[in-house]
Amino acid sequence: MLAMSNPESTGPAFAAPSIPGAMRRAFLRRCPRCGLGELQESRFRLRTSCSVCGLCYRKEAGAMTGQMYLTAIITEIFTVLLVLAVFFLTDLDTLSSIALGLPLVVLFSYLVLPISMRIWVAVEYVTDRVGEAADRSH
Ligand SMILES: [Zn+2]
Repeated sequence: MLAMSNPESTGPAFAAPSIPGAMRRAFLRRCPRCGLGELQESRFRLRTSCSVCGLCYRKEAGAMTGQMYLTAIITEIFTVLLVLAVFFLTDLDTLSSIALGLPLVVLFSYLVLPISMRIWVAVEYVTDRVGEAADRSH
């Protein structure tokens, strides 16, 4: 994992993973940059930074707004698929459909939230890396 030293970095330098590699690391609860540090303190709480490479996971207030949008989009897609499945595959009336579907949507959102938190850290890491590379080329 260790690569050549980077004079701009304050900590040890790590080989930059591919975009899917960074996403995979984050999905597996690891730092998207080094793949070694833990990403979360608990199910719904990110660590401030990586204990191995020092990557800052939460840079500023509001930085995790994208994670909320990601969770909302994934949950809405699930909800649409659930509504279509209930409509076409069952004979449930409206009230029964809502009574069945609403808890499922809430449960799905509860399960997806920590995953979208981790994926969003990887998205920020990858987009920052691309932006820094573009800045250096000018
Ligand atoms: Zn790290």
